Amino acid sequence: MKNQVFDTVVIGGGASGLIAAVFAARQGCRVLVLEQKDKLCKKIYATGNGKCNFTNKDWQASYFRGSDFSLAEPVLRSFSLEDTLAFFKEIGVYPKERNGYYYPASEQAASVAESLSREAKRLGVECLTGVKVSRVYREQKKSDGTASGAVFVAETDAGVYRAKSMVLATGGKASPAHGSDGSGYPFAKSFGHTVIPPLPAIVQLKADGKFFKTLAGVRTDGRVTLHIGKETYSEAGELLFAAYGISGIPVMQVSRYASVALAKKIPVTAELDLFPVLSETELAEEISRRFRKMKDNTAEEALAGLCNHKLNFVMLQLCCLEPTKRAGSYGKKDAAALAEKIKRFTVKITDTNGFEQAQACAGGVPLAELTESMESKLIPGLFVTGELADIDGTCGGYNLQWAWSSGAAAGKKIGGTYASDSAVKTKH
Ligand SMILES: Cc1cc2nc3c(=O)[nH]c(=O)nc-3n(C[C@H](O)[C@H](O)[C@H](O)COP(=O)(O)OP(=O)(O)OC[C@H]3O[C@@H](n4cnc5c(N)ncnc54)[C@H](O)[C@@H]3O)c2cc1C
Repeated sequence: MKNQVFDTVVIGGGASGLIAAVFAARQGCRVLVLEQKDKLCKKIYATGNGKCNFTNKDWQASYFRGSDFSLAEPVLRSFSLEDTLAFFKEIGVYPKERNGYYYPASEQAASVAESLSREAKRLGVECLTGVKVSRVYREQKKSDGTASGAVFVAETDAGVYRAKSMVLATGGKASPAHGSDGSGYPFAKSFGHTVIPPLPAIVQLKADGKFFKTLAGVRTDGRVTLHIGKETYSEAGELLFAAYGISGIPVMQVSRYASVALAKKIPVTAELDLFPVLSETELAEEISRRFRKMKDNTAEEALAGLCNHKLNFVMLQLCCLEPTKRAGSYGKKDAAALAEKIKRFTVKITDTNGFEQAQACAGGVPLAELTESMESKLIPGLFVTGELADIDGTCGGYNLQWAWSSGAAAGKKIGGTYASDSAVKTKH
């Protein structure tokens, strides 16, 4: 195998790498996938809490962020939601939709990972696992005595592999335990590409405040609004408090903006609405009514049943109201201060959690340096797919949709350009 020149070598057997391999092999390419983990698609098994939210009914380029995210649209259109659903159905993954989010009907991420791996093997894709690529480069001279042009070389501890084209599908830096340890960035740089510094996206936010220790574990419906200079980013849903700060889907959705701002040393604050069903005036009236009605109970008892009891306690303290004091000793002004605190609870964001906890990664190779087939504009035959490119989606299946669309785009172009055996018919 080591003396062979493959039609393409895919570095990384994750979501985008495997789909690229499948599409290239379907057009007759001899494909080699090099994966450093002991099995393929390791990250897919962990997606969507083990259920794999693999795409979304509502897909638009606006769900994606990056330096040139508008360039993502043609790639997403070239392998759309419908193509994704049809492809996965064809390889055995029956889709199930919940509020626009698509999962496999089995509700097992393993179905997606295994169907994809099975399809690659059925097409004769050579998949080497437990093989880490340490260096990549292009060899200008012929490598096998034939009068061929440049070949791409992947060096590993298990040997050196050559191919007419190469796909960098190493992922970014998010969740390195699943294999994406950032090793793709130096590879892209070694070919002359720019790399926008990677930052954690879809990640929890660290915040200032001793009270977070008390609030750890509290979940509540609410809204988070990030204030960054004159910009605001807002999302509603279930908020989660932790000893380090705030989490939950809405926080994860806006987190990449905090990540980018903090990296530029721009201050970030998060304003939390912890009681979205009432306006501030209505909430003040409700609290005031409770203070009057339960005047002989403690202030904390009077608030019971409004917010989570830990939140009630912390909010009272932050308003300098004694939780154990008689509710009747507090009046309208105190109720208004409490309502304001609950509706506009503002904390300073100090940092994000690290790549270990992140579900996606901002930064990478700018789309402006790639064609709509994900081919390098600098090095013909080199492709960059998935999270290694500078694009990240919000929660909801968008990151995997990007992996599918970018991988399929690369695979199709490789299949149409590099298949050695033109007599090989398209395999379906
Ligand atoms: C916990 C978690 C949950 C998620 N849930 C969802 C979800 O429900 N929906 C969604 O859309 N997205 C989700 N994502 C994001 C999604 O999984 C990724 O965006 C997607 O997998 C990226 O695909 P990729 O091909 O770019 O990289 P990856 O899937 O990360 O694959 C990269 C592969 O390259 C291999 N590799 C790296 N370097 C080398 C090297 N030097 N040599 C050999 N192999 C190498 C890695 O081992 C890895 O297998 C989740 C992410 C995490 C961490």
